[in-house]
Amino acid sequence: MSMLQPPTDLISVLPNNGYLIIPEQLLDKLHQFKQSESHHKEAGGLLIGCKRINGAKDEVTHFELTDCSTPHFVDKRSRYGFLRRSGSHIKKVLTAWTNSNQLQTYLGEWHTHPEPHPTPSASDINEWKKNLKGQKAILIIIGQKSDWFAYWNGSQAIVIQQPVKEINSP
Ligand SMILES: [Zn+2]
Repeated sequence: MSMLQPPTDLISVLPNNGYLIIPEQLLDKLHQFKQSESHHKEAGGLLIGCKRINGAKDEVTHFELTDCSTPHFVDKRSRYGFLRRSGSHIKKVLTAWTNSNQLQTYLGEWHTHPEPHPTPSASDINEWKKNLKGQKAILIIIGQKSDWFAYWNGSQAIVIQQPVKEINSP
């Protein structure tokens, strides 16, 4: 018998009434880049996972995160900035796509902020408007004490609740 703990999923409800599912281990992985000390630089990467399509409505309802890319030494990192420069981020998405029989794909982006309770900067929002126009995506900012989670609906970020272990059904 395996002594490994089964993975725990954290769940949040999306504005489209779908679910965001993120394994606790993946959130732990993001928290390793928390900028809790003054010398810690911003970090970031791409979110990888599966989109679950609701066939009846023909729209994406659930986002299941499975993995993420993490900073590479050629990325531009400072205390107040992170710029993806490395091809390793996209490469990781493409590898997941191939290895999962085209189930896992790009689901969004994450980065850290050197503030306790993060909110997106004006340049974050400009970047998303430019790069995620018409796309649905998950956006995560890891702060020093709490995190910011949002659903990008194609034109704007809609804040969602911090994913938790159990959602009480109504
Ligand atoms: Zn930012």
